Amino acid sequence: MKITAVRAIPLNVPFEFNSAGIKKPSNLAICHVEIETDEGITGYGLSAITEEHPVASTINDILASDLIGQDPLNTERLWDRMYWNVCPRGQTGYAMHAISALDIALWDIKGKALGLPVWKLLGGAREKVPAYATFGFAFLGEEELVNVARDCVDQGFKGLKMVVGHHGLQRRDEPRPLAELIRQDMRRMSLVREAIPADIPLYIDGNCSLDYVHAKTIARHARDLDVGFFEEPITQNDTGRLRELRQSTGITIAAGQNEGQSYRFRDLLMQQAVDILQPNVLISGGFTQSRKIFALAESFNASVANGGAFPSHNGHLHCGLLNGGDVEWHLAASAMMAEIYTGLPQPEQGWLRMPDAPGLGLTPRHDQIDKLRSNPGSLGSGKG
Ligand SMILES: [Mg+2]
Repeated sequence: MKITAVRAIPLNVPFEFNSAGIKKPSNLAICHVEIETDEGITGYGLSAITEEHPVASTINDILASDLIGQDPLNTERLWDRMYWNVCPRGQTGYAMHAISALDIALWDIKGKALGLPVWKLLGGAREKVPAYATFGFAFLGEEELVNVARDCVDQGFKGLKMVVGHHGLQRRDEPRPLAELIRQDMRRMSLVREAIPADIPLYIDGNCSLDYVHAKTIARHARDLDVGFFEEPITQNDTGRLRELRQSTGITIAAGQNEGQSYRFRDLLMQQAVDILQPNVLISGGFTQSRKIFALAESFNASVANGGAFPSHNGHLHCGLLNGGDVEWHLAASAMMAEIYTGLPQPEQGWLRMPDAPGLGLTPRHDQIDKLRSNPGSLGSGKG
């Protein structure tokens, strides 16, 4: 089999957040990838949570021509070619988003060629995984936050996650001081914890938005509320500071969804900076590298979980490999994905059963893709 065409399409996708009767118009950006072959099989890949145009450009302008004529089933060989083409000095960033999207499409082709879903190709450890719901967005008021949390509990989700420190350091010069934002976050955490049953874990996510001091204030409060984990609390996933935070507060730390290279995960483990590793196939090198990061976690007796959403893709990893953990049902990202793909696995009483269809089991909605191509120069829609 040979690759005949590669294209990346940057998309800016409007959707409606609609939960517990609360409706909010929103948008998220993604980079959708298609790889065609001479046997009529097309693979679909995806990256997200960064600016979509440089990712698409890295694919269309640099990586595509080198992939044409290659056998798409040689995923290790092609991953290595892509690595040396766009991040030969171990750089993380847009280049690894591009490699991730392409690697996902290659695994989609492999599954379709062999007649197996990707989760079975990876090892077939289980057919379904527990899902937690990310519900607690900064755009929700306190009452809305509690109502959405209760709605997720009613739907049977196995845990709930809310955002804290929203763009904290980035907004430190705004009239509202960071300390006030932190106070509000702690209040919101308490309101949710009181509103949901004691046996439902509550998680919080700082999205790499805080410094050590403010993260520590939240972490102490989180300990008092028995929060399940604090995800990416500190800017840049600073390993030394994460270790300090973990050791000084006793909070469980999860991190990794924004890391591109496997050595970053090694450093998080070696520094004892995390309890839970969170590689995301859309960012952390696709299935080819993410499964190696899972093996790394296993060798350190560290847990893994899905951070950064997209369970339609990450669910294959967590179902396929023995040490798979929970997947993230992100209410906003899931609504966005339904605008672009059909065949998405849906949560049932907090479980996500991965499809038996070959490959990823997803079909792009080309009418939408043609319509939602994003214009160069748009900024910020991809950050989520
Ligand atoms: Mg996250």
